[in-house]
Amino acid sequence: MPKLSEPHVLLEWARDLGKTYAFLDSHVHPFDVLTGDTAYQTSERYDMLFSKGGSVYHGPVIDEKLENDSSCHLFGAGNERAYLLASRFKYTHTGAKVISDQLAAAGLSGALLLPVARLPGKAEEMLDATKMMFPDESSVYCACAYPVGLPADKLAEFFCTAREHYKICAIKLHLNLAGIDPAAQNGHDLVEATLDAAGALELPVIIHGGRTSSLKPSGAAEYGLLSHLEAIDWSLSTAPVIIAHAGCYELVEDEASTALSKLDTLFQKYPNLMADTSNLGPLSLRLVLKEVSHDRLVFGSDALYVPIWKAWLVFLQALQDVSPSPDTDLIHIASLNPADCLGLSFLKGNHD
Ligand SMILES: [Zn+2]
Repeated sequence: MPKLSEPHVLLEWARDLGKTYAFLDSHVHPFDVLTGDTAYQTSERYDMLFSKGGSVYHGPVIDEKLENDSSCHLFGAGNERAYLLASRFKYTHTGAKVISDQLAAAGLSGALLLPVARLPGKAEEMLDATKMMFPDESSVYCACAYPVGLPADKLAEFFCTAREHYKICAIKLHLNLAGIDPAAQNGHDLVEATLDAAGALELPVIIHGGRTSSLKPSGAAEYGLLSHLEAIDWSLSTAPVIIAHAGCYELVEDEASTALSKLDTLFQKYPNLMADTSNLGPLSLRLVLKEVSHDRLVFGSDALYVPIWKAWLVFLQALQDVSPSPDTDLIHIASLNPADCLGLSFLKGNHD
């Protein structure tokens, strides 16, 4: 089969399969993860659009000249201030309209929203904000941010209440941003208590995998590296645990290659572990698609930092370049695997 490369041809290829298999983006942030800012004004112009300072909303436009570089990375080198500004700019608008416009542009059917809290009380605030800005819709599934500051013995109750009152369907844990050191006793206990609770509630956990280099203090920037996650007993949860970015966020190619061999060891030991493909440079993404079993991967974009259509195109192109059976792999990574992880039986309903 000839390798596809034109953006519109790639999108058509996936759209065609999407008629039978509903594709899901398993890594979308409803709010800026750095500031956790949820203070938006309701738009008077569009339903379910929330904006900052009266700025005008423009829907996504697919750029046919897809750059062949690693421009997907917002959080690469650069100072903290520049990256905060860039990050805020990406989150001028949010809400169900923004996500559904992005999904429609790419040809995807749904998104898993991953709020991230860095301060005590923020996770609770985000549950309310997410419910208001992303009300019950078939295309959006909400995770709960890990509640920073709660002791380990209060976590199960927190997640249980969040599931009952807010219908959360996953837990997002970002050790770097939450400042939780998995090598310290307290951090280790918090992660394992989260896994215990997630297993009991059958909620998948999505954990950041890799670095966040601009963080101060810099020690926290590496809490999410796979070398720090190895000491955790991931079998404490029987529900899936998805290691975001396949553990390679902000890693250079050599580091990514070492990280992927650690990931492989962890995958062999823990059958509930999965990985997502979000926000990797093209080289790391190809490495992941070549080396990680396609039964253990789910597609993710890291929107709004990366537009969903752009992450989708980079992913489709990489699959075409490295996979001997791109159709089957696309169906598994973007439809069947996420549906299994999240218990979304409707996603498989289209072709039964
Ligand atoms: Zn992310």
